[in-house]
Amino acid sequence: MDLSYIINHLGEERSEYFRSVSPPIMQSSNFAFDSVADMRQALAHEMDVSFYTRGHNPTVAILRKKLAALEGAEECLLFASGSAAIAAGVMATVEAGDHIICVEKPYSWTNKLLNQLLARFGVKTTMVDGREVANFAAAIQPNTKLILLESPNSMTFELQDIAAVAQLARQHGILTAIDNSYATPLNQRPIEMGVDMVMHSASKYLNGHSDLVAGVLCCSRALAEKVFGSEFMTLGGIIAPQDAWLMLRGLRTLPIRMDRVAATTPKVVDYLEQHPAVSKLYYPFSTSFPQYELARKQMKAPAGQFSIELKADTVEAIDAVCDRLQYFLLACSWGGHESLIFPLSTLYTSANYQASVLPWNFIRFYIGLEDTEVLIKDLEQALAPLLDA
Ligand SMILES: *Cc1c(COP(=O)(O)O)cnc(C)c1O
Repeated sequence: MDLSYIINHLGEERSEYFRSVSPPIMQSSNFAFDSVADMRQALAHEMDVSFYTRGHNPTVAILRKKLAALEGAEECLLFASGSAAIAAGVMATVEAGDHIICVEKPYSWTNKLLNQLLARFGVKTTMVDGREVANFAAAIQPNTKLILLESPNSMTFELQDIAAVAQLARQHGILTAIDNSYATPLNQRPIEMGVDMVMHSASKYLNGHSDLVAGVLCCSRALAEKVFGSEFMTLGGIIAPQDAWLMLRGLRTLPIRMDRVAATTPKVVDYLEQHPAVSKLYYPFSTSFPQYELARKQMKAPAGQFSIELKADTVEAIDAVCDRLQYFLLACSWGGHESLIFPLSTLYTSANYQASVLPWNFIRFYIGLEDTEVLIKDLEQALAPLLDA
């Protein structure tokens, strides 16, 4: 199925809603039937038929079809957040006494899901350095049920060799799941590499406009039925029809937004990489990145996130650089139209700060859809005083 068809037409039954080009927001919690027989039939297929919106909604269904097709998956379920999607997918694969292997430094709430929430229910997790496939092999136990990947991760961008880990897991009858938020299905297709479940924070690129929080889980029909019948319907963290409609609108421009950041981000990276105030730069598509070859092999194009470490003597000097930036908003998240920075110095005095993991002079960047010249000029003026100091 070609990308243009998926984005513009798949799942859109326009004859059912007055041929409107943009689909309606089916703002209804429940759906009525002409006969008891029809109602019985619908109730037996709650995942595929509109009976109650927690299970199925026509606006959400359009999006499910498109996202499944984008990931090359049989099915897709949509959630109220990326965290809800990850939690549902992970929880559906384990029970008390089981073991999970997760890549080190995953998204912070994924870490809490595994090492705090699931730990309370007797599920143990081993965190491994995912840069070497051998580390996964060494961590496998007889009760290992899931290997959870995030490639690249969202601060320092370490990768895993996805195909190799998926193959290892299959040999041991272990399921694999990956957080594919960084790359999007346009740049990385984990299911084709043998991964069983793909999760996204749709709050990032898939929606792309910083105006909603949502999550995606793509997998086989059998796995989706399992998740649907347990975590999805029980925990009920579903996307609302309004948000599904907004996300459909955002998705229309995903290919051009990803093309744009692939073209502009490397220019900003090149500028910063040669800047005397920058001591270290992390970007999978920079030739200086230790896993550059793997990035080229398993991702089609660069994305807009990278990080730097600045040469500065104090937290105040870092703060001042960030405060001087006019075009980069000080905010978490990424994947929208606007360029962002997340300085680790904001965590420096907080209980969340993990000094051993990320240093205080570390700043995560996201390049939005602005002109590169404007962004580079902004960086130039913000960094200049650091050189005089
Ligand atoms: C933001 C993010 C999440 C969590 O998604 P929410 O939509 O905020 O719940 C998970 N993984 C990664 C890599 C993220 O960046």
